[in-house]
Amino acid sequence: MVATRNMSPGDIILREKAAVVGPSLEQSKPICLGCSAPLIKTWHLCSTCQAPLCSKTCEKHPAHVDECMILKRNSAAMYTYFQNGTYQKKKPHPENANYQVILPVRALLLKKLDIKKYKAVLALQSHRKEREEMGKTEIVKEKVLPLVQLYKIQEAHEDMIQDLCGIFDTNCFELFPSGAGDTLSGIFPSAAMMMHSCYKNTRLTFSDDHVLTIIARSKIKKGDAIYHTYARTFNTTTIRRIGLFSGKHFGCECVRCKDPTELKSFASTLICICGGNVIPNDPLDLTQDAVWKCQECSSTLPSLQVASQERDQMMELNNIQRDDIRGLEDFLSRHKKHLHPGHASLIEVKKHLSVGYGRFTGYTFDKISIEKLKNKIGYCKEVLDSVAILEPGISTQKGLTLYELWMGEWGRLSWLKE
Ligand SMILES: [Zn+2]
Ligand SMILES: [Zn+2]
Ligand SMILES: [Zn+2]
Ligand SMILES: [Zn+2]
Repeated sequence: MVATRNMSPGDIILREKAAVVGPSLEQSKPICLGCSAPLIKTWHLCSTCQAPLCSKTCEKHPAHVDECMILKRNSAAMYTYFQNGTYQKKKPHPENANYQVILPVRALLLKKLDIKKYKAVLALQSHRKEREEMGKTEIVKEKVLPLVQLYKIQEAHEDMIQDLCGIFDTNCFELFPSGAGDTLSGIFPSAAMMMHSCYKNTRLTFSDDHVLTIIARSKIKKGDAIYHTYARTFNTTTIRRIGLFSGKHFGCECVRCKDPTELKSFASTLICICGGNVIPNDPLDLTQDAVWKCQECSSTLPSLQVASQERDQMMELNNIQRDDIRGLEDFLSRHKKHLHPGHASLIEVKKHLSVGYGRFTGYTFDKISIEKLKNKIGYCKEVLDSVAILEPGISTQKGLTLYELWMGEWGRLSWLKE
């Protein structure tokens, strides 16, 4: 997708309604198949098809009405499991619902409801071959196909279900409508044609009625490529690239990935014992012989060793709760000696601390020390510096962090006055 005119930040590039939307193919939390509300304390099983809904009202919800006709063909299937070649029935309860069958069923329904959308969905890439090599098709064969087939839909043969699951995996955008009990997955055929870059120039927003709006994040000149991103800003190049390769089946070679310093954000840079910056000779190279090199003393490290350290760090960070201030502080103090201050893991931690200081229990403004207050301000500034490089232009993170910075400055003023 290429810009056909000059665009300023905030200009709308595309607006598109989801061709199909439904509970994530990953394990969804219990949600209403009509309005997507969480089904925690109360729920209602559809009187026609037994599907999990929030109330009788949602039996008539536009999202559910059409699939209800299919689901009622075998109302027990929603709560049937397939294991070791046999079907087992479970108690009809939202916790036991097979949410993973809904997206394929809704996509197949399009054939009757909107043939244009149906064809647009099926025209998207499914990466069948790569999925076969990674064992993903085997999982579909075991966990999705036998369940969808219980509904006796003519088109639901293995090839079709494999293609659909591949299309969802590769092209879905995640939506979180207000009041929903979990993220939803949606297919937007035009937006799916957009190219990926870890250095995006667009911002995506989703409305509650599943309309995607893509706006220009920064200035885009006529003829420039329009990029969105599947990767998280505060991840290192290797982590982003491995994630994109295993999830989306391509090797990213964007401007950020190609640059050893990631546009001078130093988001993957290590610190050598001599104090110099250690960066990869070629960040795209993850072979046996690839090395990272200190820019001061020229000592080297195998790229694969760095990759495994990064993975350990990421797992460590993922295991720290976002409101565990001590855990976050501990991570920071242990890793700041050997990671550049702009390193993605450190910025991620600083981002959480900048929110937690002044807010979380035990760290509210009336309890917090002046040192931690100063840290809140300092971390906000570091996050903003990193965002200015990696997400230039209109950025939600920038807005959120500027707010925290203002809160911090306000807190410091009150502290000084006392
Ligand atoms: Zn509902
Ligand atoms: Zn129903
Ligand atoms: Zn990239
Ligand atoms: Zn060195």
